[in-house]
Amino acid sequence: MKQIPNRLKVGVPKTLFASYNLSYWQRFLTLSGMEVVFSGESTKETADRGGRLLPHEFCIPIKIFMGHILDLLDKGVDQILLPRMTDRNKTNFFCPKLIGLPEIVKFSLNLEEKRFFSPEVICNGLNPKVVRFPVTAAASLQQMKRVEKQALKYWEETLDNCRKQQITLPEAALKTSLETSRETALKISPETAGRGKLKQPEHHLCVGLLGYAYSLYDPFINKGIQRKLDKLKIRVYTWEMLEPETIETSLRGLKRPIFWNFGRMLLGAGLHFLKDPAIDGIIYVTTFGCGPDSVAAEILNLEAEKHQKPFLLINLDEHTEDGHLFTRLEAFADMLSTFKEDNAV
Ligand code: SF4
Repeated sequence: MKQIPNRLKVGVPKTLFASYNLSYWQRFLTLSGMEVVFSGESTKETADRGGRLLPHEFCIPIKIFMGHILDLLDKGVDQILLPRMTDRNKTNFFCPKLIGLPEIVKFSLNLEEKRFFSPEVICNGLNPKVVRFPVTAAASLQQMKRVEKQALKYWEETLDNCRKQQITLPEAALKTSLETSRETALKISPETAGRGKLKQPEHHLCVGLLGYAYSLYDPFINKGIQRKLDKLKIRVYTWEMLEPETIETSLRGLKRPIFWNFGRMLLGAGLHFLKDPAIDGIIYVTTFGCGPDSVAAEILNLEAEKHQKPFLLINLDEHTEDGHLFTRLEAFADMLSTFKEDNAV
């Protein structure tokens, strides 16, 4: 009897690059005939295990990423998705830690090349594009090229939903996955989806909430900031709810261009929110040790002063305490209310 070969089991770390394009990668791998295994949610153990492999000064998202890789190895996957993020133009660059991610992982864990599925990827804005496909027995080059187009279309639809329905990336991914087939359905927890499954309270304040997707939508890193803002009846608006042209137009006002791929998107969104009278203030969520944010957040802070709009910088690390964060958000909400009342007079 002819034996049916087992499908290649590819592990996807549910953080960093995949926080943005999870639906894209999931589609691409599944339609290429591979079995997708996701890492679990981030926890203290994930951060501790990953952190033990790296020098202390690494940012928390990279430590957590390493923890997710260990989790996937525990799950017995054949290969781990580890794209090489490269820059093909002279205007946008990824953070050096993202560019060097394959080396960081391989040398920290001493693993062979064959344990990774490493396509070379560039980003046109937020849209990933594979420019070099790895050789794999699971699919032919033609098949991967074909399904990559389908995956990109699916990802663009997800982003489109964010803009049309004014919802966050995880909310849109959850929504789209519920409408899709079981095999390609994403497994996103309500906690990760943020407000997705929550009853919406009456919001009386609006803020622009800025941060990288892997921090903003990981409840372990951000200590459930969206739920806390919901409790305070604050409605949030995020970068993915804006049209790319809106972000680009805002960036044109800068004296010097900003080069970081994801950082410029946050800055452009923030500059737009500063001019939007419907937005009462800005909250910028960053993580300890992030180089690009130290530039983008500072520019935005200075611009917020010029526009006389309240600005709160939240710098998170693995030790950030839950109660302390809520107290800061409460104080910020009080300030926004007072500011709003004063300006209404
Ligand atoms: S952009 Fe900042 S948070 Fe993200 S990987 Fe680079 S240093 Fe870490």
